[in-house]
Amino acid sequence: MEKGESSGSNSSGDDIWAKLVPLDSRYSDIELRSNEMTICSEIKSSPSEKQEWCKITREKDQVSALMQNKSLKLKIPKYLTPVFLQSSSNSITVDDVVVQEDDTTIIRCGSEIILGPEADGFMRYRFKVMPTKDISTKQLKIILDPEHAKCSICLNVWHDVVTVAPCLHNFCNGCFSEWLKRCQKKHASILCPHCRAVVQFVGRNHFLHSIEEDILQSDSSLRRSSEDIALLDSYSSIKSPLVIGSRRKQNRKRARAPVDDDEENAGYSPCPQCGTEYAGFRCNQSTVHLQCQACGGMMPSRSNTPQHCVGCDRAFCGAYWHSMGVNGSDAYPVCNHETLKSITERAVSRIPFLAHEKNRHEQDITEKCIRQMGRSLQDVISEWITKLNNRELDRTRLPLNHSEMITPQTHLCSDCYDKLVSFLLYWFRITLPKHLLPPEAVQREDCWYGYTCRTQHHNEEHARKRNHVCRPTRGTRIP
Ligand SMILES: [Zn+2]
Ligand SMILES: [Zn+2]
Ligand SMILES: [Zn+2]
Ligand SMILES: [Zn+2]
Ligand SMILES: [Zn+2]
Ligand SMILES: [Zn+2]
Repeated sequence: MEKGESSGSNSSGDDIWAKLVPLDSRYSDIELRSNEMTICSEIKSSPSEKQEWCKITREKDQVSALMQNKSLKLKIPKYLTPVFLQSSSNSITVDDVVVQEDDTTIIRCGSEIILGPEADGFMRYRFKVMPTKDISTKQLKIILDPEHAKCSICLNVWHDVVTVAPCLHNFCNGCFSEWLKRCQKKHASILCPHCRAVVQFVGRNHFLHSIEEDILQSDSSLRRSSEDIALLDSYSSIKSPLVIGSRRKQNRKRARAPVDDDEENAGYSPCPQCGTEYAGFRCNQSTVHLQCQACGGMMPSRSNTPQHCVGCDRAFCGAYWHSMGVNGSDAYPVCNHETLKSITERAVSRIPFLAHEKNRHEQDITEKCIRQMGRSLQDVISEWITKLNNRELDRTRLPLNHSEMITPQTHLCSDCYDKLVSFLLYWFRITLPKHLLPPEAVQREDCWYGYTCRTQHHNEEHARKRNHVCRPTRGTRIP
């Protein structure tokens, strides 16, 4: 057993509820998963034997624990004892109080545990209780009547709920999208289907979306058939917030009136196509606008031109104005093409900051590998995009929306492209034959926690000594 390994009962993939964080950062954190755990140490000359330190039992209040000193359970000769246990006493010190063999004490978040009678020369740990999801969800049980979670267009519980403003009524994305399309065809102003108020804004409501899921989970009779859902999804056109019917003054002068600029313009930069025709299109009163996430500028919502990043569903104007041949000006800010491009149009010049869970050592190793192979980063990424497209990769860990739909023609924003490149570099590394690794990386053992390891982020030594581009072999469920 390795130092700090712990054994406990029924730890079937439980979350970590507490940690022992060593003050000496050369050692890794000891993670506590089951409610009762015995912490053991390694005995250098006899790896099969283990020395018990203590047993930690979680208290009912979930924020403290009972620690029992187990140091003398094994009578071992002194020459086999780890250095930090070589003492006449096998006591443990908790917050300056000495706990003798077999004695117990309560430890709380922040308690300092010294594996000996004094601080000098002994391992010191800080006990840290993790914030639990359990506690917060228990306190937040809300009783909700499903009748209040129904769409007044289709009379079912919302699906992919959207909220319109200013009246704040809620509908299914698909239902409201169809309504919007019908109103636009008639060039009519868009009224709320529930209360007939003029709609100025519509967006997905992520908070209500989680409520919608909870309701369907608690009563599956309220679920619609998968065919109905697929049909509804095919109508859904609201991906990012839409600004509707902003009757903004056309041909606004460059110099803006400083104070009495009316409220309708507040916060939004004007749309270049409101008032001026570009590529045969000019906005009218019923044109729905999208706000670009990069520059804050507005563009008309149009079908058949990429305006959303597929990876995050946010709107970006780069590809749209590029295809319209419009360049930005002071009056009409437009961002550059880089904000939204297809994967094949993009070039990669550096390893993304996000790659390998932001672990600089692993990024350097990847860079070296690519250089040693006489290849370029672009070359490697292009090869792996082909593999992705040929469905040779498991996409479970690709942290993008609609990950199954992604092809080289998919439009992504720069952030999502970085995530994709990082995902591909992970695959490049885990499939790389060992002999292609730089010499200093070859003999490293895999960290148990693999890419999920948190110690790699605050412990230089650990990050350098262990390989973290690997799957976790303990603790975490492996996707
Ligand atoms: Zn509906
Ligand atoms: Zn309404
Ligand atoms: Zn416009
Ligand atoms: Zn994106
Ligand atoms: Zn923009
Ligand atoms: Zn690690």
